[in-house]
Amino acid sequence: MDIWKILTLRCAESTEIASRELDEPLERTSRIALAVHLFLCRHCRRFRRQLAIIRRIMHRIREQSSVASAPRQQLSDATRNRISLAMAQMLRNQPPRRFGP
Ligand SMILES: [Zn+2]
Repeated sequence: MDIWKILTLRCAESTEIASRELDEPLERTSRIALAVHLFLCRHCRRFRRQLAIIRRIMHRIREQSSVASAPRQQLSDATRNRISLAMAQMLRNQPPRRFGP
């Protein structure tokens, strides 16, 4: 296990791993490094939550469009991934939202 990677994971790497974990199982070091980073970094926790929301929305859209009987244009997996990553990037670049009064 690469303890150095676990202790020095940066936000950019964390978001990359968080994105990757949605598509494939993570190797042990990445999984632990991400967990440690998420424990310490609220920005990356929020990014990961937003990524999960985007994924749920994309699934819902896909389900609804598959129910529709009219012929439709299919997006390729690569195009869907590009849209998802662009949306995640847009969310990441938003200023932190403040809650409360
Ligand atoms: Zn972070």
